[in-house]
Amino acid sequence: MFWWSLTFAFNPFFWDSQLNIPWTYNPISGFYEQKSKEEITKEIIANMDYYSDDSFQKFLDDSHWLSSNYNAPDIVRINSDFTSNKSSNFMLRQKIAEMFEWMARAFSNAFNFKAKLTINSAWRSQAYQRQLLSNCSAWRCAKPWTSEHEAWLALDLWVNWWNIKAWSGKYYQWLADNAHKYGFHNSYQKWIDVDGKIVEPRHWRYVWVDLATYLHDTNQTFAEYFYKNIEPKEQNNSDF
Ligand SMILES: [Zn+2]
Repeated sequence: MFWWSLTFAFNPFFWDSQLNIPWTYNPISGFYEQKSKEEITKEIIANMDYYSDDSFQKFLDDSHWLSSNYNAPDIVRINSDFTSNKSSNFMLRQKIAEMFEWMARAFSNAFNFKAKLTINSAWRSQAYQRQLLSNCSAWRCAKPWTSEHEAWLALDLWVNWWNIKAWSGKYYQWLADNAHKYGFHNSYQKWIDVDGKIVEPRHWRYVWVDLATYLHDTNQTFAEYFYKNIEPKEQNNSDF
C-alpha cells in the first residue's frame, strides 16, 4: 500500500491531473505557462509591431505615416489569373500574394467556380495616391504616405469583374466570415468616427492571421482596436 501511494506521489501525470490547469506555450516569454489560449493570444496581439514600415501590422491613418518613398523588401507581381483586368502589373508583398491566392481558390470553391475573386488595385505609388486625392475627399482617399496601398498591404477586391460594393451580398458575407483565416481584414467598416474613412467593403488589408482572427472574433476594426488598446484616445486628448 505504501509503495503504491509513493508511485502516485512521484508521478508527474498524477500531479498534472490534480492541478487540472492547462500548460500553454507562450512564444513571447518562451515558457509553458498556466494561462488560457485566449490570454496568450491577447498577449501576442498586444506585442505586435504597429509602427515599423515593414511590419504586416503597420497602422496607418492621418496621424500615422509611412517613411517617404517606402519600398517593401519582398515585392512580387500578382499572377494575372487573380487580377480584374488580366493585367500582370499589380504588385504586392510576396506573403500577401500567396495568402490571397489561397483565399481566392477557397472563394471560387465556395461558389462552385461560378464566382471569381480578383484584385482591382494593390500597391500605389505616393505620386499616384496624390493624384487620386486631388479628385476625392479625405474621407474616401487616404493622404499620401498614409495609405495602406502605399504600404504594399492593401487590396481592392472585385468579384466576377464587378466592384464589391454591397454590404449584404453573399460575396461580401463570405469574405466577412472567412478572410481572417488568410490574414485579411476589411479596414473600413464602421464609418468616419471610428475608422477615419467611409465604409469600403472592397478594401482589405493584410494584418496576419492571429490579428485578423482576433479582430474578427471580437468584431472590431483595426482602427477601433488600435485606439482602444495601443494608443488610447484619452491619453491623446489629455489637453481637452
Ligand atoms: Zn483600397
